[in-house]
Amino acid sequence: MDPITFAGNPLDRASAERPGEDWLAVRRTKGQFLPLWQFKPLLLEDRARFLPWRAEWEGRPVIFLGLDGEQPLFAVDLGADETPPELNGEFKDMRAAAHVLPGRDAAIAGQAKALLDWHARHGFCPACGHATEMRDGGYRRVCPACAAEHFPRTDPVVIMLPTFGDSCLVGRNARFLNGLFSTFAGFVEPGETMEEAVAREVREETGLIVKTVRYHRSQPWPFPSSLMLGCYAEVSSQDFTLDGTEIVEARWVTKAQVRQWLQDEVMDGMRVTAPIAIAHHLLKDWAEK
Ligand SMILES: [Zn+2]
Repeated sequence: MDPITFAGNPLDRASAERPGEDWLAVRRTKGQFLPLWQFKPLLLEDRARFLPWRAEWEGRPVIFLGLDGEQPLFAVDLGADETPPELNGEFKDMRAAAHVLPGRDAAIAGQAKALLDWHARHGFCPACGHATEMRDGGYRRVCPACAAEHFPRTDPVVIMLPTFGDSCLVGRNARFLNGLFSTFAGFVEPGETMEEAVAREVREETGLIVKTVRYHRSQPWPFPSSLMLGCYAEVSSQDFTLDGTEIVEARWVTKAQVRQWLQDEVMDGMRVTAPIAIAHHLLKDWAEK
């Protein structure tokens, strides 16, 4: 199986040590920092651009990414002003960056984006409204007024390819542009297992009844903080009925057709999903078996 974008983060997150403020302060003095502006990581050529600390960053949110061998790595949020801070490099949209960065850099930049984005949106306590404070290098916030603790979110999303024998079903979401066809997906709801969420989403979007669900692989997806749970859903028939709002078109395609489609990228006007997305791997891994 091909490596998956945003997965394979090589850093040691040092979760046992990072709550220690002294430990973290020492690491900061020798740290290298990845700047993000508008949650876009700084790139130089096709690498993530880490820099030594700069005085003008004082007061900006900083999170601990982890240890790269002995080297402590951090990320710093340089805000969302209209004009980017002047640094040697280019702030690149995370999706565009994922297309050019090596796997390890994409994973680290994705971790930085997901975490800094969460902090930017969770400055106030949902229990009492007081301003919260960062702890543990960014993996916790505490409320000084009511003592509530808040942890960074990771939202589970099921993403699945319905299969029937040698065929699989791909659909076009109303939000998709340029004839893109892909797998089906939806958020796991409270009180649901992953398998139940797969069956519900497939039924809601296609009317198909899921017989068995097989987990395949997962992907961190920092838009803003999802964990994509890739599954295969064997359905009981091929007679689908679209919900007509979310999914506007769907087609059954065979394994041989999928292999050709992945090679050509377009088939009968259907554009295939890009390799940075787990949907691409769900199709590929299934068709190659
Ligand atoms: Zn509070």
